[in-house]
This record gives sequence, C-alpha cells and structure tokens, in this order.
Amino acid sequence: MATDTLSRPAQTSDTQTKVFKNFIDGEWVESSSGETFENRNPADSRDLVGIFQKSNKEDVNAAVDAAKRAFAKWRLVPAPRRAEMVFRAAEILIERKEDYAREMTREMGKVLAETRGDVQEAIDCAYYMAGEGRRLFGPTVPSELPNKFAMAVRQPVGICGMITPWNFPMAISSWKLLPAVVCGNTCVIKPAQDTPLSTFNLVRALTDAGLPKGVINVVSGFGSSVGTPIAEHADVRAISLTGSSEVGRIVGGIAAKSFKHCSLELGGKNPMIVLDDANLDLAIEGGLWGGFGTTGQRCTATSRIIVQKGVHREFVGRYVERAKKLKVGNGLDETVEMGPAINEKQLETDLKYVEIGKNEGARMLCGGDRLDQGDYKYGWFMQPTVFTDVEPKMRIAQEEIFGPVVSILACDDLEDAVEIANGIEYGLSSSIYTKDVNKAFAAMRDLYAGITYINAPTIGAEVHLPFGGTKATGNGHREGGIGAIEFYTEWKSVYVDYSDKLQKAQIDRGE
Ligand code: NAD
Repeated sequence: MATDTLSRPAQTSDTQTKVFKNFIDGEWVESSSGETFENRNPADSRDLVGIFQKSNKEDVNAAVDAAKRAFAKWRLVPAPRRAEMVFRAAEILIERKEDYAREMTREMGKVLAETRGDVQEAIDCAYYMAGEGRRLFGPTVPSELPNKFAMAVRQPVGICGMITPWNFPMAISSWKLLPAVVCGNTCVIKPAQDTPLSTFNLVRALTDAGLPKGVINVVSGFGSSVGTPIAEHADVRAISLTGSSEVGRIVGGIAAKSFKHCSLELGGKNPMIVLDDANLDLAIEGGLWGGFGTTGQRCTATSRIIVQKGVHREFVGRYVERAKKLKVGNGLDETVEMGPAINEKQLETDLKYVEIGKNEGARMLCGGDRLDQGDYKYGWFMQPTVFTDVEPKMRIAQEEIFGPVVSILACDDLEDAVEIANGIEYGLSSSIYTKDVNKAFAAMRDLYAGITYINAPTIGAEVHLPFGGTKATGNGHREGGIGAIEFYTEWKSVYVDYSDKLQKAQIDRGE
C-alpha cells in the first residue's frame, strides 16, 4: 500500500523506519524531487514497511545514463560469466528466503506460504537463466554459395526499461531482470509503488553476487512520473511492462513511436471448466486455491468457474461451504488462508463489483462484505465472495476484478463451456477438470489462451515455459522460458566469405 508522505503524515512511532533510496550506478541516492512515499502493510496500516523515493524524470535520466555507461562493458563480459553471477544470486536468495518472504508479506499482504513461493520463483528463474548463459543458441546453416559460412548470433538489445505490478513483487522482477542481464543488457526498473521493497531485495542479492555497478538501476515511484519517462526515453531500446491492459495501451503506444521492443503482460479473466465426469473433490480444492489464493489478485486467478449442469448443484453447494470457512487475516499468521486487498482502491473496486453483480441479477451465495471489526479495521479485508446464476455477458463474468470474487456459470457440454470460456476480451490462463482424455485434448486445442491446465486450476505457472496470453492479455510476447531470451536479444546474421572473390547471392548459381 503506497501512500504519499506529503499528503499524509507517518502514523508510526518507530524511529527506526528504514528509508530506501534509489539504486543508481551502484549507489543509493535520493530522488532529485526531495519527495518520498510510504510503503505500509495492507493487513495492518500501523506497520510502516519503509519510506521510498518519489522519483521523477531527472532520476530516470540519471539511471538511464548509468545503464548506458555500464552497457559498454557489460555486453562484452562473456555470457557464461554473466550467468554465474545470476547463479550466485540464486544461492544468496536461498539463504535470505525466509526474511525476504516475511518482508514481502508485510508489503503485499499475501500469506507467507505464497511469498515463500514468490521468492522461490525468483530462485528458479535464476537457476534457469544461469543455464541459458551457456546456451543462447542460434542457427548455423549451410550457405548457398561455396566457401561461405552462415550463422545468426544473439546480441543484447541495449538498455531495457522495466515496469512491474505489485502482486508478484519479486518473481515478476526476476522474470525481467535475469534474462536481460544474462543476455548482456543493462536495466532500469521501476517497481510497483505498493511493493518496491521486494525488487530492492532481489537487486541486493544480485549486487552481492557481484553484478557490476550500473547494470541494474532501480528507480522507485509512480506510473506517470517514473514509468512513462522510462518508456519515452530515447536510449531505452526495450520496454517490458506487466500490469493492467489499460496501462498496457499507454506504454505500448509510447513504445511504438520509437520502435522499441515492447513486451506487455496484462490482465486476465480466467475460466476453469468442470465437466460432469470431473473428480469433484479435486475441482473444489483447485477452484478455491485458484479463486482465493493471493486474495484473487493474480493475473491468472480462477475468476470464472464454468460447471456442467450434471454436477452444477453439488459443486456450487460444496464450493460455497468451503469458501465461507476460509480464514482471512494477516498473512504473517501461518494459519491464515487469505490476506487483504493490496490497498483501499482495490478493496473499493472489489466491493463495487459485488454491487454490480447483484444489480445484474447474479445470486451472491457468500461474502460480499468488507471485514472491518477488531484487528481487521487496520487492513483492507473482505470476505471471500461467490456468485452463481452468472450469465456469460454480465460484467462480473467479463471484467477483471482482481479480488476475491468468483463467478460460477453453468454450461451444457464441453462445446458450450469452451464458447463461454473464450467469450471474453482476455486470454491468459484456462483450465478443465475431466477424466476424459478426448475432452481434455479438445480443450487444450480449443481454449484460446496462453496457458491451459488439465485437472488443475488456472494458477501455478513454472518459470521454464512461456508465460503470457492472447487478445487483451498482451501483445504476443511471452515471459518465462526461451521467450524471455527472444525478447532480450536481437538477431544478427553473419556471413563469412572465404572464397577470396565477389560472390553474389541469388545470382551466382554456377549454372
Ligand atoms: P497497473 O497497470 O496499475 O500498474 C502496473 C505498473 O505500471 C505499476 O508499476 C504502475 O506504477 C505502472 N504505471 C501505471 N501507469 C503508468 C503509466 N501511465 N506509464 C507507465 N507506467 C505506469 O497494474 P497493477 O495494479 O500494479 O497490477 C495489476 C494488474 O497487473 C492486473 O491487471 C493484472 O492482471 C496484471 N498482471 C498481469 C500479469 C501477466 O503476466 N499477464 C502478471 C501480474 C499482474
């Protein structure tokens, strides 16, 4: 939860409050604006996590200059050496995993098991990308001319700008930074204003692992004053944003004007199909985890459950019973199953969609209210909420809510389910529960999304497969796996003619 210290005085008696500066050219520096903002725990506003720089265009310019100076040397460091530093960072993250997970729960609100998973994802990504440092494969092909050699090599793009969301504060930063540096790029990253600390922690691990100054620069602050100047900067050659489709349109538009590489990973409204032959116990378990894990604040959250009519009644009854019993609270308590919304605005959005769903004629079977009694009053909590009798065209079935509000829809058969699943503007994740292998394969083929799970909910991506989606979920790029290497490199085709004469391609055919 980010709040502006200028407009709201700190409510803490903690004189040890940590002030975090920007990280530019290997130094911790204050913003030239002289302004800061607070990072408070969304589960407990009395807990001030830290004070961060409210940066501006001048800070971005300084960070890009540092990245430019560093690039001249970093691009010449052999990729396996660059990768070794990333490997060492993985080992440092393992040592610090618990501390970083706790700090992440304090700044972001999700439960400890999940923030441990978030740090683990950065570790997995580091090990995977460290391996890529010894591959970075490119094609070597026969030339059509004699005594001529032909190949393509990967080269770094240059200075990469990165803008991240708050829901996977370390994992998403790692998906961007680690492939970028292994490929020889230098970076300027703006973490989400609600969760900057976890990006700082990742960068600290990389710096302690030996990454030279200027290779990664962190500038904290808000979208229009830091994100936009990064996207607009003429020396930034690649821009990677993970965030809402709304911001994706803005950043994509800016990047297009100067022909930057641009990767947009945006919103989702992810369907989980449950067919009559499904293992219902498994589907209920999966639907709860997918719908209410991370308080529904995952781009891949299972926000729509499409249930075949034969099991609809039983599924709804048992699902709602379980949803009602989920323990909501501060994620630092190991018994808690669902944390708060990230901030007041997100909670307001969640509650607004509850009203929208009711007004549209959907039936709310549980939840719907803010929790604000006792200790809840210090945070942005609400009850897990389930709507049934949801029609495919209702707003609660079409729009990304990004909160603990699940819509259950009914379907006649697989064909009907797929039509409902695909009938939205997004295409990130999807899933189906069935024991029929034919139906599973048909769903794998027909669900128009970047990810499909069989007998698992819509969440749970692993770092070494492509991650991203179709339609309004992005612009066709993928993070994770080899897709990240594609994004952070430029191809250069190299022809070596050792014939000692002028040979003309397509013309000298020896005929
Ligand atoms: P957001 O779009 O509000 O913000 C994302 C980032 O963009 C933040 O750092 C923000 O400061 C910055 N930003 C905002 N306005 C900007 C502007 N005009 N110019 C440049 N930068 C700007 O999203 P959020 O609330 O942080 O995160 C939630 C959204 O992210 C959801 O829509 C979710 O689906 C999406 N998301 C997508 C993925 C994915 O991989 N597809 C993963 C996680 C989250």
